Amino acid sequence: KKLQVAIDGPASAGKSTVAKLVAKRFGYVYCDTGAMYRAVTVAALNKGIAVDDRPAVAELVKTVKITFKPGDPDQRVFLNGREVTRDIRQPEIASNVSAIAAIPEVRVAMTDQQRAIAADGGIVMDGRDIGTTVLPKAPVKIFMVASAHERARRRYVENKKKGIATTSLADLQRAIELRDQKDSTRKVSPLVQAPDAIRLDTTHLTIDQVVDKISEIIEK
Ligand code: C5P
Repeated sequence: KKLQVAIDGPASAGKSTVAKLVAKRFGYVYCDTGAMYRAVTVAALNKGIAVDDRPAVAELVKTVKITFKPGDPDQRVFLNGREVTRDIRQPEIASNVSAIAAIPEVRVAMTDQQRAIAADGGIVMDGRDIGTTVLPKAPVKIFMVASAHERARRRYVENKKKGIATTSLADLQRAIELRDQKDSTRKVSPLVQAPDAIRLDTTHLTIDQVVDKISEIIEK
């Protein structure tokens, strides 16, 4: 049976790393929904649209189609056919994406695209509102958390490895906490644990341990 697996949680909790490995283990498709909101942010900034200009962003999102191709280590992301895999990871995008993601028209458009991607099951989808809003009937829902310090540390190491410009560890932690706060307090589909999600604190777990735990949940 090909299930829908929803993995939500705050920024840099390890969702995408783990989701990708779980998808690989089960032969499922992986979908990084954060990449979609990031791609819309790239589109807005490229057009000189202010990220809090709701009418302009609402118009823009109608013209945005996001597609994925498998890639290593990151899934490749395309904005209307143009590759934005690297662009979406820049700090300027991270600091602007929460404003874009708070716009209701953006969420409707992305949620529609995400449901279409997940329709046939056999999918591991990670984000903030997958278990609550996008796939409320998903049989497997995980809410992944880790301490802010540990999340900043992991992101710092990852950015270094990928050659992405990074500020100090303390600044990175502040940026992550600010983004979580914006994501948790927005009006539409805020970052919150679904009542039926299983909470996994990964602060002291290795990637393999987390993948094993989720795999057990899927197999049960
Ligand atoms: O997962 P990632 O950190 O790349 O997500 C970037 C941003 O996209 C989040 O901070 C949030 O504002 C937005 N997002 C969202 N809903 C999702 C996934 C991401 O609002 N399902």
